[in-house]
Amino acid sequence: MQGVTVLGSTGSIGINTLDVLAGNADRYHVVALTANQQSERLFEQCRRFKPEFAVMMDDAAALSLRDRVRRAGLATEVLAGIEGLKAVTRLSQVETVVAAIVGAAGLPSTLEAVKAGKRVLIANKEPLVMVGDLIMDQARLSGAKLIPVDSEHNAIFQCMPAGFAIPGKLPTVADDVLQHLGVRRILLTGSGGPFRATPIEDLARVTPDQACAHPTWSMGRKISVDSATMMNKGLELIEACRLFSTTPDHIQIVVHPQSVIHSMVEYVDGSVLGQLGVPDMRTPITHALAWPERMQSGVESLDLLAIGRLDFEAPNPGHFPCLRLAEGAARRGGTAPALLNAANEVAVARFLAGGLSFTGIAEVIEQVLSDVAIEAAETLDVVLAADARARDLAVRHIDRRQAGKAPATVSVTGRPV
Ligand code: NAD
Ligand code: MG
Repeated sequence: MQGVTVLGSTGSIGINTLDVLAGNADRYHVVALTANQQSERLFEQCRRFKPEFAVMMDDAAALSLRDRVRRAGLATEVLAGIEGLKAVTRLSQVETVVAAIVGAAGLPSTLEAVKAGKRVLIANKEPLVMVGDLIMDQARLSGAKLIPVDSEHNAIFQCMPAGFAIPGKLPTVADDVLQHLGVRRILLTGSGGPFRATPIEDLARVTPDQACAHPTWSMGRKISVDSATMMNKGLELIEACRLFSTTPDHIQIVVHPQSVIHSMVEYVDGSVLGQLGVPDMRTPITHALAWPERMQSGVESLDLLAIGRLDFEAPNPGHFPCLRLAEGAARRGGTAPALLNAANEVAVARFLAGGLSFTGIAEVIEQVLSDVAIEAAETLDVVLAADARARDLAVRHIDRRQAGKAPATVSVTGRPV
């Protein structure tokens, strides 16, 4: 039996992970589950999976969960806060940690799991965007294996040659790794989100519910908005550079509305390998859990005859300014990706709360990127300071816009990052 900790078990990825674990209960033992504030949902999961530990980030929610767990006569020990999250990632009985917290909030626990040398299944892309090189260095030191859960990166991972593992043995110069493997480039696919065909002039008025109604995937609200702005594809471009030791020059983003091909790898001999399947996160989660073996996921077969056709197009840069901003940050390196990510998290949260327009998201990110000097991301402290600065500035920009002191629209087409 393999011991598993699921960080962020009450979220979309967390729930899908528990579904897969329940379907393979003879192989996995749930050691710990964690959530932010949803004590009721975490309690239900404790009743079902009987973990040794449950962690609530929020202190009041932890008290409420502890009370319920005791009254139900469960043996689960309830911990609270960031130290609790870190503690359940390094337990000796835990072999696999599923990193499924949303945003930068997942960084400390993901890093702890990597430092503890665990098998870390990474759904939570934001820490990789912020400090990917540092995470890779720590994994090399500890012997941790990273297995991508994000569907595109999991697809790329599956299309790599047998024996490919993350991280590689050496902190190789970007491109050497792919060249060595005979890879010419990576084709990173994306659906284009719900507004691919929406006229640009209508985008300023779209609502949070419209932005979260993804045409092919069912996901948490933050990543759904990121998909609608295509910031998600931008973050994934940076994530791919980190995981596969490459640069944006060797990655082509391809819009593929059906979300059937989850990404592809092109080799120097002209072969293009892709991973296909119905858009259901249980496939990459199951692959990552069982790798290098295979097991049942509960996902239905892909019916290509019913789908009929697969379409491809280039992303429209005017439509998706976030993609341009993310590509700029990927090329700039240093603290730029962390600044981009932090400003995006603040702007998306405000959009979801009704305090910023959809098109305001890219505008705020661009303002923050132009306000802050980019530094070399040498230490975690430097990156965390950049993250804090970007959040502070993003809040101020949004507040000023709301107070009507800033122009309602600011050009998002001008300045490269
Ligand atoms: P979600 O919002 O549905 O769930 C987030 C989870 O994190 C919840 O359990 C929540 O309680 C917990 N959480 C939130 N804030 C926290 C905090 N401050 N401290 C501790 N825990 C906190 O998110 P999701 O859609 O499941 O996405 C999770 C991650 O996986 C994201 O980074 C996302 O980009 C990535 N991802 C998701 C999907 C998907 O299909 N949902 C696909 C690919 C990648
Ligand atoms: Mg993805």
